[in-house]
Amino acid sequence: MSNIIDVHISLDQQYQIAIGEQLAQSFKAYCEARYNRNKIFVLIDENVNRLHNNKVAKLVSDFKDVHLIEIPEGESSKSAREWNNITNKILEIGIERSTPLLAIGGGVTGDLAGFVAATVLRGVPLIHMPTTLLAMVDSSIGGKTGINHTTGKNLIGSFYQPDAVFSDITFLETLEQKEWITGMAEILKYAAIRNSELFEVMEELIHQPLTPKQRWVEVVEESARIKVDIVQEDALEAGNRAYLNFGHTFGHALEKVSGYGEITHGEAVFVGMIAACHFSQELGHPVSDARFAPFLSLYKKQMSPLTTDTEELLEAMKSDKKVKDNTIRLVLLNEWGSPYLYSCEDHSMLQKSWSYTLDKFNT
Ligand code: NAD
Ligand code: ZN
Repeated sequence: MSNIIDVHISLDQQYQIAIGEQLAQSFKAYCEARYNRNKIFVLIDENVNRLHNNKVAKLVSDFKDVHLIEIPEGESSKSAREWNNITNKILEIGIERSTPLLAIGGGVTGDLAGFVAATVLRGVPLIHMPTTLLAMVDSSIGGKTGINHTTGKNLIGSFYQPDAVFSDITFLETLEQKEWITGMAEILKYAAIRNSELFEVMEELIHQPLTPKQRWVEVVEESARIKVDIVQEDALEAGNRAYLNFGHTFGHALEKVSGYGEITHGEAVFVGMIAACHFSQELGHPVSDARFAPFLSLYKKQMSPLTTDTEELLEAMKSDKKVKDNTIRLVLLNEWGSPYLYSCEDHSMLQKSWSYTLDKFNT
């Protein structure tokens, strides 16, 4: 059983996201209808391959020729070196324009495999099978693919839409708690910018063991729906898509100052959302960061103490490539569910929001 979300990017770019438990049958039926099933490339995160190899073998058993390529786990795989390795392997084995590439893993695998699919032969069919909560609710949706450069994250890449996304939440059975909590931050972001009922559902879910069950299907589906809605309005990121960056201007600065890998993206975004919420409140908007309080201890438990250097955080915000004329663009909240863009010139207010937020994490 799966729930389907239709994504319409443009007239000739439409695809479906299937979300549910045990999607093997729908995946097989989809491939039968869509591809000749002579050959498939499976680009898979090494941990996922180790933990789910039987399941994966069954998924692609109808293809005559299956080529499995493991992607070493971790952010460092989103590199030109790894893109080159994989592209070499694929071209040496041989690929046609109609040969599908299946990406199974978290955001790292999805971003890298997506970029390989976008570039090899100028584009081959791509199917995403996200296996982390973050990838299910965020990175597999929206068509952004890419790799990192020594000068910054995600600086090389392209917009490339998949043929389909299959989010089978049973993959989450093996996901570590830290990764669940990382993914939750993006769900809380959707709660803040679109549907505050998700706050209540998440509060309920964190008081139960973190295992994939029907309630999570609903949460993943609602999150995916919100991202799809926003992306459909703005596929190439000219306007409203920026709302998806709620908490991210602060969060990216924290990631940069802490050192990538020291803090996960979701942890940084969680901190960033409290700061953005506080900033909104200071401007008089009726949004209290108490909304995030029920989740605070979860994040604190798994995070090392944060920097207290608000000056350095401010510098990191200013050095962001998107900053023009010293004006820092923030996504703030008019009220819950109503984000807007704010051009911040008064940097002392940013520092105040940082101090307020860091205090919560360091006491
Ligand atoms: P990840 O892909 O590194 O996965 C996190 C960890 O979980 C890894 O160690 C991986 O091996 C492991 N893992 C994956 N699935 C598992 C499973 N089912 N069971 C057990 N372990 C599993 O990280 P992520 O958080 O999924 O993604 C982060 C990446 O996504 C970043 O590079 C970020 O830039 C990117 N991202 C992209 C977009 C986009 O729009 N394209 C959006 C958000 C984030
Ligand atoms: Zn994010």
